[in-house]
Amino acid sequence: MTRIFSGVKPTGHLTLGNYLGAVRQWVAAEHAPDEALFCVVDLHALTVEHEPARVRRLSRQAATLLLAAGLDPQRCTLFVQSHVDEHTRLAYLLECTATDGELRRMIQYKEKAAKAQAAGDGVRLSLLTYPVLMAADILAYRTDEVPVGEDQRQHVELTRDLAVRFNQRYGHTFTVPRATHPAVAARVMDLQEPTSKMGKSDANGAGIVYLLDEPGVVRKKVMRAVTDSGDGGVVYDREARPGVANLLDVLAACTGADPVRLAEGYTGYGALKRDVADAVVELLRPVRERHAELAADPAEVDKVLREGAGRARALARPVVDRAYEAIGL
Ligand code: ADP
Repeated sequence: MTRIFSGVKPTGHLTLGNYLGAVRQWVAAEHAPDEALFCVVDLHALTVEHEPARVRRLSRQAATLLLAAGLDPQRCTLFVQSHVDEHTRLAYLLECTATDGELRRMIQYKEKAAKAQAAGDGVRLSLLTYPVLMAADILAYRTDEVPVGEDQRQHVELTRDLAVRFNQRYGHTFTVPRATHPAVAARVMDLQEPTSKMGKSDANGAGIVYLLDEPGVVRKKVMRAVTDSGDGGVVYDREARPGVANLLDVLAACTGADPVRLAEGYTGYGALKRDVADAVVELLRPVRERHAELAADPAEVDKVLREGAGRARALARPVVDRAYEAIGL
């Protein structure tokens, strides 16, 4: 049986990028005869400036949204990272396996460290070591597959390297996982800045579609999306025409069509944007509706998370105990 693990950071409201790049794959995975664990990775939210009450609120909101998106606690394990101590216990052993050099090469570290410095904030040490904690999240469950967006490719590569290195040095302990990405929309771009990823913690929300945006707000954001200069018409070219390609990717992901084929059906940007807006509104409608129902009963969500943490702990503990023994403790 394939074991699947993935997570989402409670650093902001979940976006269309999170949904198309990751969450939708998670919902599909739980219908296969796989064993799946999904995690709100709250410790990762502490690697940059954070507000304690907001992180706690967003953690529960993320869990509620994952349930609203279709995760079924009878078919998967949904939990919060900080409720399962095994993640941090294992992270230390992996810090003794990783090197400073390989962590400093991580693209996300370089980008986020530069941002923190520009804002006059110190760069938290945990920002550097974050991919090691992520490796622990994955390896603690002997995960086979990690369904993630394109931006996590490098971190899963590092996880693989650490698993192989640990196994070679100390004896076989971890499964070496592989990342899986959706065929389309593995990297949804910001609608206002189509050369940057749509990220939930970005300051300017105008280019970000949040899963809980009202239909009118979604329409406005899509209709105001930046398209590319020049009058090249509607063609699919991610390098030269990133704005249009992004809209085509989103529409393709919503409708199951091929983005290159889709382009052939449009002569103007207006009609394309209208179709994208309609498709995204319809895609998100059931998620928003279900979220409203679930949010009315937070105690039920907390119960799901408590039970999920219990199941996760029981799976992770023997793996992490084995790693402690293997490394000489
Ligand atoms: P964010 O960058 O929004 O804080 P997370 O680090 O919480 O995202 O990632 C949660 C999941 O969503 C990961 O699998 C990540 O690869 C995916 N993801 C995040 N942003 C995008 C995007 N713009 N397009 C596709 N997938 C994305």
